[in-house]
Amino acid sequence: MFKNNHYMKMSFGLITLFILLGSFYWFGATGVEEQDEVNASHKPDEEIEAMKEKLSEFDKLSDENDELNRKLAEKAAEIEELEATIDSLEEEIATLESEEKNDGSSEGENNPDTTNNDSNERDENEPVNDPEPDGSKTVYLTFDDGPSSTTPDILETLNDYDVNGTFFTIGQRMEEHPEIARRTFEEGNMILTHSYSHDYAIYESFDSFYDDLHLAEVAYENVLGFEAPQLLRFPGGSANHSSFDYGGEQFMPELTEDIVDHGYDYVDWNVSSGDASDIYDEPEALLERVKASSSGDVVVPLFHDTDRNVATAEILPEVIEFYKEGSYEFRTFEDISDEELAVLIEEQVVNRPVVR
Ligand SMILES: [Zn+2]
Repeated sequence: MFKNNHYMKMSFGLITLFILLGSFYWFGATGVEEQDEVNASHKPDEEIEAMKEKLSEFDKLSDENDELNRKLAEKAAEIEELEATIDSLEEEIATLESEEKNDGSSEGENNPDTTNNDSNERDENEPVNDPEPDGSKTVYLTFDDGPSSTTPDILETLNDYDVNGTFFTIGQRMEEHPEIARRTFEEGNMILTHSYSHDYAIYESFDSFYDDLHLAEVAYENVLGFEAPQLLRFPGGSANHSSFDYGGEQFMPELTEDIVDHGYDYVDWNVSSGDASDIYDEPEALLERVKASSSGDVVVPLFHDTDRNVATAEILPEVIEFYKEGSYEFRTFEDISDEELAVLIEEQVVNRPVVR
């Protein structure tokens, strides 16, 4: 009992001590806080100054942001330009590879004279300017990556000369310009699938490729009202090198085999106009390239009908006249016969094996 009382007294004493210490601390701290507030209220100018500084900093950042956006837009334009260059290089590689195969030798692979030699050889055997096509020479005009604002001009020229061509369209652009796509077909031209997105990332895997193709076929049917034929052109062509960055070097050899197993035929070209390269806006240079490389009995020239291909539309009358003078018969892939398809396979323009 005595002991308990003693402890109680000690606890009471300790509690009182804590309360006293707490009170000192409390009043002391509050005092300091009040002191701070008083000091702060005496410095309004400094605060305004600080805010002004922050504002000018913000302005500076905003200017920097504008500058960065401008640079970003510039880079985006450069990337677009580079992508077009990649496309054109793909086309040149494919054209050169097809020439190489047709020549049966790899000599002069990068020599632009190769095609000229070819035409010289032909000049000896065949008269220039045959009066009437006798069916021995055929031309399949092809236009990729449309429809666009350029397509109507191309259709106009085709109508003027009463000839037709084949358009390998981009699904997204068919959705953007359904009326141009329908007009193209209604005027006797053929429309075939090229891609939905035309993004080389489709070559990542079979799945990503076939997903994109499926979207292209859905867009085709929605716009034209009938199923897309199983005849297509690969973005960049069957021998493209852009796929190396995605599915690897063996991707196109495997894909081209697989797609034929699925019942498709794929179409390349053996004449490249260069209208996806940096000479796209030089009509004379384009025409020169078409003429210099159109030497065979079966020619499949590659053109583009994107918004910027104004020069392509401009030279088309001369291109048509050139082939007419050469006694070429104008054909499309619309009513292509088995025999004609066999000739194109033989010429390695259709279903050309990709060997790497
Ligand atoms: Zn293309």
